Formats: sequence, structure tokens, C-alpha cells
Amino acid sequence: MESRIPRVEGWQKGVGRVPMMIDGEWVEAGGRWIPVENPAHKGTLAGEVPRGGAAEVDRAVQAAKAAFPAWKRTPARERGKAFLKLADALEAEREEFARLYSLETGNAIATQSRGETMLTADLLRYFGGVASEIKGEVIPLGEQLFSYSRREPLGVVGGIVPWNAPLALAALKICMALVAGNTLVLKPSVEAPLAVTRLVELAHRFLPKGVLNVVTGTGAEAGEALLRHPGLAKLSFTGSTEVGRTVMKAAAERIIPVSLELGGKSPQIVFPDADDEATAAQVINGMRFVRQGQSCTAGSRLLLHASIFDSFLEKLTARLRAFKIGEPLDEATQMGAIVNERQYLTVLDYIREALAQPGARALCGGLPPPKAPFTEGYFVEPTVFVGVRPEWRICREEVFGPVLVALPWNEEAEAIRMANDTHYGLAAFLYTRDVTRALRTAHEIEAGFVQVNQGGGIVPGQSYGGFKASGIGREWSLEGMLEAFTQRKSVTLNLA
Ligand code: NAD
Repeated sequence: MESRIPRVEGWQKGVGRVPMMIDGEWVEAGGRWIPVENPAHKGTLAGEVPRGGAAEVDRAVQAAKAAFPAWKRTPARERGKAFLKLADALEAEREEFARLYSLETGNAIATQSRGETMLTADLLRYFGGVASEIKGEVIPLGEQLFSYSRREPLGVVGGIVPWNAPLALAALKICMALVAGNTLVLKPSVEAPLAVTRLVELAHRFLPKGVLNVVTGTGAEAGEALLRHPGLAKLSFTGSTEVGRTVMKAAAERIIPVSLELGGKSPQIVFPDADDEATAAQVINGMRFVRQGQSCTAGSRLLLHASIFDSFLEKLTARLRAFKIGEPLDEATQMGAIVNERQYLTVLDYIREALAQPGARALCGGLPPPKAPFTEGYFVEPTVFVGVRPEWRICREEVFGPVLVALPWNEEAEAIRMANDTHYGLAAFLYTRDVTRALRTAHEIEAGFVQVNQGGGIVPGQSYGGFKASGIGREWSLEGMLEAFTQRKSVTLNLA
């Protein structure tokens, strides 16, 4: 099949109109298109995608339904092999993927887009490799009884993903659902549908048609239509806690299982013995500044022991002031643009509101200066606030931008109480050389993903998911795939 997605040569030229892929074919939505803006260059287009709605969702679900019986019967090892091949194909085109990804999301190619492309290949390989681990058990009910359990796929899965790590999160839904024997209708975000569509196109080299379908469109149209479709056996959603509630209600109406990977406002606790350059570098990593803070696991609340409050912030802000911000395709750029105008304005609102509060101060960053590149695209400098109060919006809500708040504490118990004082519970980062204190604190923290002395992201194979309002279910691991994308059946044979 001829690819409909041209190579990205530079930012000046977008990729034009990119149809969606349903039942192995390129599909448009009756002449309705949605522009995907290039956020690093306001007013220029990265591309356009069809504005799919109920009709396209229905077509995709019917295709997935028709493909399910044969795919379910395909041996799991064979299903897995398709993803090992897809990983190789993606890796062979990694530079093209990274450029397309930077064009639509505004992420810097050197610090984010290449890394996420390789993480995506890693994910595909992991799930392709564990395919034959979809095992059951034999239950010893007696000599005359052979009783065993098997894990069966659910049917057609509806997957909805956000824009902030679109390639890895789409690949995650695709390989977990399909390796387990389900078929999938995937709805990417309209802010970042291009690299995902390219991945789906590539996957069709190795998958039968109808097994994997993508419908582009808005949340209100394509998203809602997918949630309500009676043909689905499962909903798997990654996005905001607010939309997660709607997804859960839709699943409740039809009593189908649901997985939710939602938002966060994660703490980074620095103990007095970690007032050093290495920790400052990891805090920057944990805050995901190179992704403009647009990560569900961003450690956006920095809880510093009072004795090192000023000295640590000096180290941290010196590094952040030196950040190179600008053209995402430039190799020297460390930090690109916020994904779109709406998100940019939201981030600026949080900054403006905090600046207007008595006592609050931005040690670095703040509102964007009136000069290039800030006037060209949706760029915001790394921003660190002090003098904030824990009850303010900026300390409680997910800003989803490069905005970190720093708060002091004196006692360990106080730090833990502050860390847990949130309705979220996704990630946490702790910095200390004292192993006993590190583990004691890690066990007290109400979060699903805790790291000590490092700020990195999730590695395939780790159990990942949120406590409290950050989600339901676990993804990224074999166990997560088995729990979320298969159902057990118990079979007993009387041998007497
Ligand atoms: P969002 O909730 O606005 O949108 C996510 C997806 O849902 C998009 O595809 C969107 O089109 C769709 N959608 C929106 N409204 C819908 C509706 N009514 N019905 C059906 N679908 C609908 O989130 P976003 O702004 O794209 O992404 C940022 C959010 O995602 C943040 O809250 C972030 O923390 C969260 N996130 C969580 C994880 C995780 O693993 N926990 C990972 C990445 C992002």
C-alpha cells in the first residue's frame, strides 16, 4: 500500500491531509478535516486529519468485530511475532518518526522525540516477547478431575489516548490489546494523530486487516461515539481525570471493564543529604522539563527540607536558566513548545494567577518574554515558584506545563503528609543517600510509581498505574496486560 504520509523535511512544510486507517484501508470522513497546528510556528499546519464521528467509529468497530474470531485463534506466539517485526520496522524509520512527532507536538527531537520513538520500539518488543506467557493454571481438584483455567481475550477494545506521549501510549494500547488476542479501535488525540497514524499504517504490514483500526476526531464526536458503542467489550483510556470519569460512567452503563490512566500532581521530596548537582539534574528530569512538563508523572511539587531550600534552588535554577528553548528540529534545542494554543493559554493562566498572589515569586521563568522564539510559537520557559501556599491552585492542580512549585518542610512526617495531601496518586520521587529512610518513605507515599534518586520514566515490564484519582488498573507489564486485556475461564473435565 502506498503511504499517504510524506517525509518531514523541515518545519515549513507540513504533511498535508492524512486519512485514518479502518479495516486496512485509508478512510476520509466525508470531506471533514481537522487542522493539526505546528505549535512551534503559530499559524502553520503540521497536517490535517479526518474529523471522524459516529459513522466512522461504527465502521471501525464492525471491522474489528469481524476480525476478532480469526485473530483470537491465531497462536499467541504468532501474534507476538507481528510486534517484534513492527518494532524492527519502526526502528528502521526512527528518524522519520521522530521528525513527524516533533512537527505535530512541538517536542524537541534531540531530548524527547527520538527517545520516545525508541521507547515505543522497546514496548512493542517487550509485549511481542511475552506473548507466550498468556498461560492458565491446572487446579488439583482430585485424581479423577482435570480442572484448568485459560485466559481468553475480551473482544473489541476501545482505546483512547492523549497527546502528551502519543506514540508510546498508542503503541502500549495496541500491543497490550492485540498480543492478548483482542482487536482494537484506537482514537488518538486530535492534537497529535500523525505519528500514531503512521505507526498504524506500518503495523498493517504485519497484521491482518480489521485487527487494528484508528479513528481520528475530537473527544466530543469520535471519542463519545466510541465510548457509547455497544460493540465494545472493554474501554481503555489514558487522559485527564475529568474525562476519565465520563469513560467510567460509559463503561458502567454497559458493565464492561475499564482501565484508566489519569492525571497527577506528583511530589519530589529532597532530604538534607541530597543537596547536590546530581539531585538537581534528576529533579529536572522528574519534572519532565524537556517535555515542557507535559507528562502525567511530572514531579511538579518540589518538597525541600528547609535547611537546603535556598541552596538547592540555586543549583536547580542555574541549570534551568541555561536551558536552550526553541525550534524542535534543531539538534541543540533542549525544550520545545507547548502542544497547542489552548494548553499554552491554560499554563499562562496558572502562572499569571500565581504571580498575582501575595508573597509568590518566580525564581526563573514566568510569563514568556516578548521576543523570539516565544513570539513564534507556544514556548514557555522553565518556571519555579517559591512563596506559594499548598492550598493554592498552582500547588493542587495539574498545570501540565513547565511549572514547578517549591515548598519547605522540617520533619519527615510533615514531608510525607504534604506529599500525600492530594487527590492524585500517580508518581513520587525521593532523594536521599539513607536507604532505610528512602524505603520507609517510599512505603508511606500514596502513589503507584515511586523512584529513589532518579527522575526517569517508566520502563516496559514495570507495573505502572495510579492510586486514588490517578487511575484504575496497571499497564506497561505482562501482569498488567493479563489483568486488563484477558478474562479467565475455568474448565473442568470429569475423567471417571
Ligand atoms: P484529555 O482527557 O483531554 O483527552 C484524552 C483523550 O480523550 C483525547 O483523545 C481526547 O480527544 C479524548 N476525549 C476528550 N473528551 C472526551 C469525551 N467526552 N469522550 C471521549 N473521549 C474524549 O487529556 P489530554 O489533554 O489529551 O492529555 C493530558 C492528560 O492526560 C493529563 O491529565 C495527563 O496527566 C493525562 N495522562 C495520563 C497518563 C497516565 O499514564 N496516567 C499518561 C499521559 C497523560
